[in-house]
Amino acid sequence: MHDILPEHATAWRHLEEVARRVVTAYGYRQIRLPIVEKSELFARSIGEVTDIVEKEMYTFADRNGDLLSLRPEGTAGCVRAGIEHGFLHNQLHRLWYVGPMFRHERPQKGRYRQFHQLGVEAYGMAGPDIDVEVILLSARLWRELGLRDIRLEINSLGSPETRIHYREALTAYLRQHKDALDEDSRRRLESNPLRVLDSKDAGTRAVLGDAPKLLDALDEASRQHFDLLCGLLDDNGVAYEINPRLVRGLDYYSHTVFEWITDDLGAQGTICAGGRYDGLIPQLGGRPTPACGFAMGLERLLALLEAQQLLPAEEAPDVYCLSLGDGARATATKLMEAVREAVPTLRVLTHCGDGNLKAQLKRADKLGARVAVILGEDELRDGTVALKSLRDDEPQRLVAQTELVTNLLALCAKESLDS
Ligand code: ATP
Ligand code: MG
Repeated sequence: MHDILPEHATAWRHLEEVARRVVTAYGYRQIRLPIVEKSELFARSIGEVTDIVEKEMYTFADRNGDLLSLRPEGTAGCVRAGIEHGFLHNQLHRLWYVGPMFRHERPQKGRYRQFHQLGVEAYGMAGPDIDVEVILLSARLWRELGLRDIRLEINSLGSPETRIHYREALTAYLRQHKDALDEDSRRRLESNPLRVLDSKDAGTRAVLGDAPKLLDALDEASRQHFDLLCGLLDDNGVAYEINPRLVRGLDYYSHTVFEWITDDLGAQGTICAGGRYDGLIPQLGGRPTPACGFAMGLERLLALLEAQQLLPAEEAPDVYCLSLGDGARATATKLMEAVREAVPTLRVLTHCGDGNLKAQLKRADKLGARVAVILGEDELRDGTVALKSLRDDEPQRLVAQTELVTNLLALCAKESLDS
């Protein structure tokens, strides 16, 4: 679990702000959900035999003895809320959320135990058009962020019936190669064979090379949904690759699944993953409702922004106010309050504590302030302040305290034009 220190907060805010703008542009509304849910919710949705539920959840008994877990993902809680508040059945909703998720994974680059996801969920729409919408939305986000070289992989898991047939074929094939499978996969071969497709083990992946493909097993309706999806992606100029082995780490998906992947981050290259999960709502006790969505990993997106040198610089103060002497200091505090009152968007720092002029200027400079406002005993007596631009060689000038706001605005505006 990581601290996000102030020097990184600007990048986080940038990412969150751009993402908020993009989801809002598609009419998605924010939902804020609890971080803790009953453990049972995740076992019933994500699946008992998945990495997340078998070994990654932070689970504890509360004072009543109820078994609770820190949420490992956002979809289960969103569906739980939808059933509880009755906003799923026979309704159309486009929702988004952002926040911390928790998984007890082996710590490594790109895999953390507290990480952050931003996700969207769309309810009530059964066609491939909404699948394409959430893909287009994510593609727009990459463009708005300036990100390059992210590829889209898609697959169809078909209907539950498709998977019953496919499961038999896959199990029969894997049994023949049992000795080459990793331990988890051997166990899952009998309990949840589709999970084997998601194995990260090199030996197992080699066996999977010749395994029967889900796409070949699709029933007519699933095939049609998938073909329409591909056509819509083509129409919108979205390049994609069909990866017949793509499954997700969660059991609730059916039909469309997709991942956005980069090669710039090493092994943990999936920055966003999602798909359709029509079966989940009835599985959790609600009335059948079509659903699809995705979740993106914000840490991985930030790492990619950094790798592609797209991180914004930390915002520096606009104004740093220096003062000499107790009287000047008191006036400085009041003057800067007046500046903040007049222009709430300016970043204004007042020097607090001791220090001669040189030390105070050094501090202003170190923070990267644009303008220094200087208040000494002379200025205090004359009702003036000295203004000094810290980014060019313009000479310092004196202005009346009553004219300070106007002059500051002019200076800051000029600064932004110059830079
Ligand atoms: P994987 O197969 O890589 O374990 P998953 O199937 O568990 O992935 P999802 O639950 O679909 O992944 O998560 C969606 C996205 O959230 C991932 O693509 C990734 O960007 C991010 N993510 C998932 N787990 C972590 C983690 N432990 N640390 C950081 N980001 C994560
Ligand atoms: Mg995982």
